[in-house]
Amino acid sequence: MKQAAIFLDRDGVINHDRGYVSQVDDFEFIDGAIEAMQQLKKAGWLLVVVTNQAGIARGYFTEEQFLSLTEWMDWSLADRGVDLDGIYYCPHHSEYGDDNYRQDCQCRKPKPGMFLDAAKELNIDLANSWMVGDKESDMLAASNAGVMNRILVNGQYSVSEKTKAQVNTRVSSLKDAAAYIQKN
Ligand SMILES: [Mg+2]
Ligand SMILES: [Zn+2]
Repeated sequence: MKQAAIFLDRDGVINHDRGYVSQVDDFEFIDGAIEAMQQLKKAGWLLVVVTNQAGIARGYFTEEQFLSLTEWMDWSLADRGVDLDGIYYCPHHSEYGDDNYRQDCQCRKPKPGMFLDAAKELNIDLANSWMVGDKESDMLAASNAGVMNRILVNGQYSVSEKTKAQVNTRVSSLKDAAAYIQKN
């Protein structure tokens, strides 16, 4: 049977967005984020991270560095009782990087590729799933994937009025997003 998931952007939702976070020293969990994920896991939701990481294509950090940070994040969360069900990332950019990374891929948000891959691999019911993100591209990617429930975390990025009008709610943190999801 298909299961609904909560898709989570990483930077600005799980950890503070300091721009191209690539090492443990720069990775700081946002207050309440881990507790929110604990609640959602307990309630039976799949938790799937979907993150654009064009810093790899741009050469700001290597894919190995990203994977090493991701492993640390994954273990830190598991240690607190949060087993992530999937972590999907896009290392590409359409204009930067060498042959491997420079491509007009289907995974970079606002494209829906990461969601579609996750849906196939984890048997996810996209229509009944939720997306929590802090950028226009997060909301559009989810919409493009057919994820009907979308929560915008207000942050440092500007989001069009049109997109704002199409989200279920706007909140200040993942903690508030989790509370909203539990009520709806
Ligand atoms: Mg973000
Ligand atoms: Zn990609």
